[in-house]
Amino acid sequence: MATLAATDRLAIAGGQPVAPGLICPPWPPTDEKTERRLVEIYRGRAWSFGGAAERAFAQNFANYHGAKHGIFMANGTVTLQVALLALGIKPGDEVIVPALTWLATAMAVRYAGAVPVFVDIDAQTLCVDPAAFEAAITPRTRAVIPVHLYGSMADLGRILPIARRRNLAVVEDCAHMQGGKWSGRGAGSWGDVGSFSFQQSKTVASGEGGICITSDDTLAERMYRAKHIGYAAATRQGQAASGPPEDLMCHNFRATEFQAAILDGQLENLATLIDRYNANASRLEARVAEVAHTGLRVQARGRAASPQGYYSFTMLADRGDIGEVPIDVLREAFAAEGLPVGGTYGTVYTHMLWNLPKTEYRIGGPCPVADGPATTRAILFLHYWLGADTATIDRIGDVIVKVAGRLDDVRGAAKQRV
Ligand SMILES: *Cc1c(COP(=O)(O)O)cnc(C)c1O
Repeated sequence: MATLAATDRLAIAGGQPVAPGLICPPWPPTDEKTERRLVEIYRGRAWSFGGAAERAFAQNFANYHGAKHGIFMANGTVTLQVALLALGIKPGDEVIVPALTWLATAMAVRYAGAVPVFVDIDAQTLCVDPAAFEAAITPRTRAVIPVHLYGSMADLGRILPIARRRNLAVVEDCAHMQGGKWSGRGAGSWGDVGSFSFQQSKTVASGEGGICITSDDTLAERMYRAKHIGYAAATRQGQAASGPPEDLMCHNFRATEFQAAILDGQLENLATLIDRYNANASRLEARVAEVAHTGLRVQARGRAASPQGYYSFTMLADRGDIGEVPIDVLREAFAAEGLPVGGTYGTVYTHMLWNLPKTEYRIGGPCPVADGPATTRAILFLHYWLGADTATIDRIGDVIVKVAGRLDDVRGAAKQRV
C-alpha cells in the first residue's frame, strides 16, 4: 500500500490532493486501421442496407458471445423493443424489469405496447433479485429482462430456471456487459435474446448502435425483419422475395456501415480490454478491502461471471461509518483528491425523464433495496478509467483509501455547508 501520512488532510478540508492531474484514458478508442476502413466505405458509397461491414461485424460479435446470429440496429433501446416484438409480446402483456436500470429497459416494454413491471434488486449485485422476480409473476407476465448492471451480472443460474418453469421469455439487457461471460459462455447467449448498446459511453462504442444476439433461427429471422421494415436478411433494396408474418410490427431501425466498421475494429481488442478491466478492478477491490472497516464495499461481481464486462467500477457507501456521511459531500471529496465520481441512475420510476402515467406501468412488489441506500449511495466511475496503466490505478486506489480513512474531514466539510 502507498504510504499516506496519517496527518494528510483531505483536499476538501484544505489538504493536498493525493492524485492531482489524474488522466483518464480517452474514450472511445481510435486506430488507423479503422480510419482507413471508414474512408474505404465512404468512397465505396454503400453506406447501409445490410452491407459487408454490417454482416461481418454482426457475425463476429455473435460468435464472440457464443450465439449463432447477430442483428445489428440503430441503438440499444430499439434492440430491446425488437426482441420483445419478435417474441410476440403484445399490448396487455406484462414484462418484468429491475427497478434500477437505465430508462430504456422499461421504455422498450412500453414501445412494444406492454406494461413494464418493476421489481427489487439484490443488495450485493444491484441486479434483479430472482425471488422478487418470481414473486411478481402474474397470469399476464410473458417475459423478464434481467439487466447486467454496472459491474455485475444478474444471477442467470436462478433466473433462467424460474423463467423456464413459468414459460416466460428472457431478454438479457447486456448494454453494460460487452465481452462478459457467465459460466464460460458469453453474456446475452443465455436468454432467448441478448441485447447490447454501442452508445458513446459503452465498452464497445460507435456513437450510437446496438445488436441482438440469439441462437434461435426463427427469432433471428423475425428480429431481422422487424428492424428492416420487413425485409429478410440478404435482400437487396426493392427486391423483397417474401414478406414478414402478419403478427410482426416492422420498423426501420437500421444502422450504417460506418458504425459497423468502427465496432468491428474494437471487437478485435475486446478480449484484451476486458482482461485489463478485470485485472484493474481486482487491484482496486484490494484497496477498498483496506478500508472495509468503514463500511465501504464494492458491488459484487456476478456469481458465475468471469471475465466480467465493466460499465463502471462501483463502490457502495451504504453502511457503517461511511454510510452516515452526506453522500454529495463524500463524492466531492473524491473529486477534490483528483477522481471525479458519480452515482447510479436511481430507480426508473423516480427519474427526472420518466413520464409514463401510473396507469402504464406497475411496481410489482416492495423494492426496499432499490428504493434504499444501495441505489442512492453508490460512488462510481466509468469503465474507461479501468483501462488506465497500473500507476494510475494505484493512485485511484490512494484516493479511495485516503477519503475513506478521513471521514472526519468529510463530516467537517459537510458542517460548513449548512
Ligand atoms: C445504454 C443502455 C440502454 C440503451 O442503449 P441506447 O443505445 O442508449 O439506446 C439500455 N439498457 C441499459 C442498461 C443501458 O445502460
